[in-house]
Amino acid sequence: MDSIHPITAPLCPTCFLPYPSGESHPCAWCIKTPPPFERAVALFEYGGAVAQAIRRLKYGANLEAARPMGRLMAGHLAALNPDLVTPMPLDRRRLATRGFNQSMELARLACAEAGRPAPKILLHRTRSMPPQASLTLAQRRQIPDSLFAVSRPRAVEGRKVLLIDDVITTTSTARAASKALVRAGASVQVLALARTPL
Ligand SMILES: [Zn+2]
Repeated sequence: MDSIHPITAPLCPTCFLPYPSGESHPCAWCIKTPPPFERAVALFEYGGAVAQAIRRLKYGANLEAARPMGRLMAGHLAALNPDLVTPMPLDRRRLATRGFNQSMELARLACAEAGRPAPKILLHRTRSMPPQASLTLAQRRQIPDSLFAVSRPRAVEGRKVLLIDDVITTTSTARAASKALVRAGASVQVLALARTPL
């Protein structure tokens, strides 16, 4: 399918921001404010068939649509070789209306496919935030670290945690969630199905 674009070099090796041309190099934001995660890996550019599949998963509760996506993430999960896998938490209100967390579904499928123990819920949101799509780029970059808290800090201390998300936009949500885990003594890598260009 030509509307699927895997993310390939050139890119920022820390946050996987793809560049249209040139060589791979750290992006300006990663240099200026290094993220708390060691690296973020995303499989596809957000758009086309990938965006459609994610929308189907998120709003249509079509969990079957997640199966091939989870399978694609499994290989990366195995390569990143974490001690623990955890999904990006959804806020409680959205979880209540949707009934499931799409990142948890992806994490579950990826772990099963990779023959790993099931993902664990290690983080929760301390409060609600407006959806990212309704925020400006500047607002998105100001997501407070206090938005996330580690549910059981002793469970993550000294562990290599892989945080799974469906879509990375600015990395600010991934940064805030990773910060909470790092504060509890974990090292963090992020794996997302897709990433939007800035
Ligand atoms: Zn970067």
